[in-house]
Amino acid sequence: MSKEHPGGYLKNKREPIHKRDPEERKDDFEEVWEQEWDEDHLKSQGERCMSCGTPACMSGCPIGNIIPDWNDLVYRDDWKRALERLHATNNFPEFTGYNCPAPCENTCTLNYNDDPVTIKSIERAIVDKGWEEGWIQPDPPEERTDKEVAIVGSGPAGLAAAQQLNRAGHHVTVYERDQNPGGLMRYGIPDAKFSKKKVERRIDQLREEGITFECGVEVGEDIPAEKLDEEYDAACIAVGSQKPIELPIEGIDLDGIHYAMEYLPRANPGQNDGWEVPEEMNADGKSVVVLGGGDTGADCVGTAHRQGAAQVVQIELLPRPPEERPEGNQWPDQPQTYEKSYSQEEGGVEEYCVDTQQFHDTDGDGTVDELRAHRVEWEQGEDGWEKEVVEEDMRIDAEMVLVAAGFQGPEETPFDPLDLEMTEHGTFETEDHQTNVENVFAAGDANSGPSLIVWAIGDGRDAARDIDEYLMGETSLPASLETDNPPVVSRR
Ligand SMILES: Cc1cc2nc3c(=O)[nH]c(=O)nc-3n(C[C@H](O)[C@H](O)[C@H](O)COP(=O)(O)OP(=O)(O)OC[C@H]3O[C@@H](n4cnc5c(N)ncnc54)[C@H](O)[C@@H]3O)c2cc1C
Repeated sequence: MSKEHPGGYLKNKREPIHKRDPEERKDDFEEVWEQEWDEDHLKSQGERCMSCGTPACMSGCPIGNIIPDWNDLVYRDDWKRALERLHATNNFPEFTGYNCPAPCENTCTLNYNDDPVTIKSIERAIVDKGWEEGWIQPDPPEERTDKEVAIVGSGPAGLAAAQQLNRAGHHVTVYERDQNPGGLMRYGIPDAKFSKKKVERRIDQLREEGITFECGVEVGEDIPAEKLDEEYDAACIAVGSQKPIELPIEGIDLDGIHYAMEYLPRANPGQNDGWEVPEEMNADGKSVVVLGGGDTGADCVGTAHRQGAAQVVQIELLPRPPEERPEGNQWPDQPQTYEKSYSQEEGGVEEYCVDTQQFHDTDGDGTVDELRAHRVEWEQGEDGWEKEVVEEDMRIDAEMVLVAAGFQGPEETPFDPLDLEMTEHGTFETEDHQTNVENVFAAGDANSGPSLIVWAIGDGRDAARDIDEYLMGETSLPASLETDNPPVVSRR
């Protein structure tokens, strides 16, 4: 696609769709994002794209979104075609347009010595407009095959695989152990980052396309795992990677200490399906410590503030990343620099280089009261980074502790009867998404380990293509992934 707007980046400064004022947003569970945006403004942002000969943004995008095309189409006011280009590689662009850390913006050529194009804002604007205008409608297949496919898990990977396979004409049933479909898009990612109405609207679309959802059904518990192999022509396991890294710290079993994924779905009103927040999951008035300086930790900080926590301290063992790119970390590599999360913008204390030693129950009532730790410094030694204690016995009030130390792979879900091979990382061993059981495939975080929504969607699409080819001997479903490597940016 040729462009006639060179130098747009000289005329227009980068101006993404902003978040709401932290003071205004920190006490409510509504999305942090400004809801209103201006079409002319977004067009001027699209004009900043240089349509590079080799679009570096596309190599930064794990699903190879055709970014320069939709930037250009928005600039030309052709929003409907921009939406088509967006959907060509991504089934659920609002999942990413609102939540993606946007590695594409880091690799945008303008980021070399200027500010990158607001790719994420443009993506969000295109899909917002698509819903508003009624352009996003169910698209069921014209003909059906006689093949039955089961998908286990309804996160972004399972949903993308389901939609692709259904559009290829197969009969698709999605099994989900939670009460509602959506995976981490619904139960996990806080309401403040992504409204659950946006998940429901996509599920409605998928149901209307003919996909069957069986919720509240845990495969391996409520129905035997063998059913996947014996009663379906093919199955795709997309159960995510939600098993938390366990911390061997004294006192970890005290009351008041919760893993992030026990806490977030119960504490966010849009996720807890109308249940009262249990007292032990309510941070109201409490001194809260969040263990883990990553994005899941940031989501715990934001949710605890919204519940009315008296204070929130987020603790990280590693040093604070530098403000500027360190030596050897140049464009187009992803920057290893400090970035404030949305929840840190709203308040709380960030503590780095803190090595937790013990959760302490001061009054002996079985509930955590205090965190005891050492302050450390990190130095590059001969065998890598080494830590040295510089302050012993730090104490931090902790009436509630939220553990967000990362994820180690799929939970031990009862697929044992199928005898599926696993990797050393705890994910399913696959080749072209196929496990050692011929008609059983795996996709998303269960296949790659904890990653990003964009990767899960792309991997679900590619699994669908492999399954379709297995079922029919050939496939016309599009491949989405540019690369077999998971993104270098990941979550913990
Ligand atoms: C708190 C948090 C915040 C995050 N924020 C972001 C973000 O802002 N941006 C981003 O890009 N990524 C983010 N991520 C990562 C992202 O959510 C995941 O990479 C993505 O959801 C993985 O998709 P998935 O479909 O593979 O698995 P999941 O979304 O984990 O879905 C798996 C589904 O399988 C179901 N399941 C499991 N076992 C069974 C069974 N036996 N039978 C039936 N169903 C089963 C589960 O209930 C779940 O619904 C975040 C992760 C977390 C934990």
